[in-house]
Amino acid sequence: MLLELKDVYVHYGKIEAIKGISLEVAEGEIVSLIGANGAGKTTTLKTISGLRPISAGRVLFDGKDISRTPGHVRVLRGIGQAPEGRGVFPGMTVQENLQMGAYARKGNTAGDLAEMYDLFPRLNERRAQMAGTLSGGEQQMLAIGRALMTKPKVLLLDEPSMGLAPKLVTQIFSIIEEINHRGTTVLLVEQNAQQALQLAHRAYVLETGHVVKSASASQLLDDPEVRAAYLGGDLGVDGAGEADATPNGAGRPTGGDAPAQ
Ligand code: ATP
Repeated sequence: MLLELKDVYVHYGKIEAIKGISLEVAEGEIVSLIGANGAGKTTTLKTISGLRPISAGRVLFDGKDISRTPGHVRVLRGIGQAPEGRGVFPGMTVQENLQMGAYARKGNTAGDLAEMYDLFPRLNERRAQMAGTLSGGEQQMLAIGRALMTKPKVLLLDEPSMGLAPKLVTQIFSIIEEINHRGTTVLLVEQNAQQALQLAHRAYVLETGHVVKSASASQLLDDPEVRAAYLGGDLGVDGAGEADATPNGAGRPTGGDAPAQ
């Protein structure tokens, strides 16, 4: 198993945000975490990347216990994260942002840059543009590209569809699929459960810090409880599309990277 959480607990002060979560991600999979606001999805990703300490349980990567391994070491071992809110460096160019992703490791970064520009032609056209002037969707692509430049074995994605127009959401999801085809395992946090389950092989449903269901994505798509709670019942009544409120995603300075740790 590439990644395993075993009975993990995480606290913010006295608040217990994660209450004994166990999950597994095998090499080559796309696994999704879905659930309502506050269910603990972002905290779970932060626990894996080392941004939040765990209070109990274990995190295993490639069979080794990394529960106490610092975040920057986890990046070198192969855990790459594109954070919620994008967090690109606004005053640096597209190319400089990508190069930052490869900063801490050795190897052929020129070849990796070429691969990123092949994956994201939009970024290729804009390599000399300041990241802060990119559209929301382009910033999302850049954040993913920068995480990929660390050469991760597993890529953690937090709400990559957030704030994007439907057309861009589709584009981002097809890029994630392509990243997976090229050999990177993906753990995807999404509120857009419909799209996430169409893309993922398997998924976990989180509620208030617990895993309440885990199954293949196709089983969850057919599950009446999941449909009622996360897929807008018989589709489109409410909830569908609330993540796509931005008309064209253009012109925002930089993704609000405000959420505190
Ligand atoms: P969303 O979809 O809204 O991002 P989520 O499923 O990612 O939600 P988390 O952000 O992981 O949920 O939050 C899980 C719980 O931990 C929530 O109850 C939240 O209020 C709490 N929490 C998160 N961050 C902090 C923090 N910095 N300080 C205190 N409590 C926090």
